[in-house]
Amino acid sequence: MIVDIINKKRLGMALSYEELDFFFNGYLKGEVKDYQMSSMLMAICINGMTDEEIFSLTKIFIESGEVLDFSDIPGIKVDKHSTGGVGDKTTLIIAPIVASLGVPVIKMSGRGLGYTGGTIDKLESIGGFRIDLSDQEVHEQVKNIGVVITGQTADLAPMDKAIYALRDVTATVSSIPLIASSIMSKKIASGADKILIDIKVGEGALLKTPEEANKLSELMIKIGNFYHREVRTIISNMNVPLGHNIGNSLEVLEAISILKGEDNSSNLYKLCLELSSEMISMGKNISKAEAQKEVVESIQTLKAYDKFLELVSAQGGDLSSLKVSDHVIEIPSKVSGTIMNIDALSLGKLSVSLGAGRVNKEDNIDYTVGIYLHKLVGEKVEAGDILATLYVKDDFSLTSFDNIFTIQ
Ligand code: URA
Repeated sequence: MIVDIINKKRLGMALSYEELDFFFNGYLKGEVKDYQMSSMLMAICINGMTDEEIFSLTKIFIESGEVLDFSDIPGIKVDKHSTGGVGDKTTLIIAPIVASLGVPVIKMSGRGLGYTGGTIDKLESIGGFRIDLSDQEVHEQVKNIGVVITGQTADLAPMDKAIYALRDVTATVSSIPLIASSIMSKKIASGADKILIDIKVGEGALLKTPEEANKLSELMIKIGNFYHREVRTIISNMNVPLGHNIGNSLEVLEAISILKGEDNSSNLYKLCLELSSEMISMGKNISKAEAQKEVVESIQTLKAYDKFLELVSAQGGDLSSLKVSDHVIEIPSKVSGTIMNIDALSLGKLSVSLGAGRVNKEDNIDYTVGIYLHKLVGEKVEAGDILATLYVKDDFSLTSFDNIFTIQ
């Protein structure tokens, strides 16, 4: 039976809900082995899935764990998810912005894996910050201050967790049906009324082409319709990193600088403006232009920054503990010209080799290391100008920084 189901998918045929349920739940029970699931995932990766199969798989993922209920909290709860990028600290910025404007934010975030960072790791660079709130604490905090960012509970779509770990080591992460059901199952199980997805596309992202990103967008909207959730998507560029800072403490510091209104021109600022305006538009049922006015005002009047401080203090964090390494390596430009590109993928990999990310799931992170980009795409440089400062461990030696900046 197990082999017959794999064979059916290998031949490109659609599986019924019963077959998918039997197979995927069998995996959680240990009846379907890793090698059989790996084979199924590869068949899905190669042959794709029909919409019906994707809805079934999403349902099976959702029902593998608890479904949270925040209906006791007044207001439309809008959740946001990013498919993962380098330097993506948008959650740290938009959660307080949106909450400062009266739309409740309950964000269950994850850790980084591979070269993309995770919000939970970034928050843990703030000494004392608790990311393991109980259901009751989450409810109380949202009622009190309107915002919470916490780790995903072990019981939220546990099937996705198990399958994701296998996908990660079997080259099956980039399957569009699997990404869609993985993300949407977690968003629906975490009790959101409306969902905004930031789909990253480019060299530093899971999806490399706009066609793939559009396909994922369409699918997520369809899954949302099936579950009566409004889903909006934004497709954003991940050929270049987001903002100036990569690495955990450094990214929190950059988020603070945006919230204080100190940067209103970087690609990071622009994306945060777009995402938070979309969330406010969804949460208040107003136009995006009206929402954007409110967002800009919240930053300019420091309402959003004050909300961030409230969030950090409610979760036990102490911002004075944020530290970056004293050991630095400065990278000067060898040529003069305009920066045409900054390679996000190479910088993501470099930040992992500095110790800011994990190679294996059990690795410890060094919160103090990372990369500061002095200049972003479009800016002019003279030979000898510093392009980047690397914050490193004292025993780190750099092998190469070649070809990361394209300057013409
Ligand atoms: N993020 C997820 O949570 N799941 C995927 O499959 C890809 C990115």
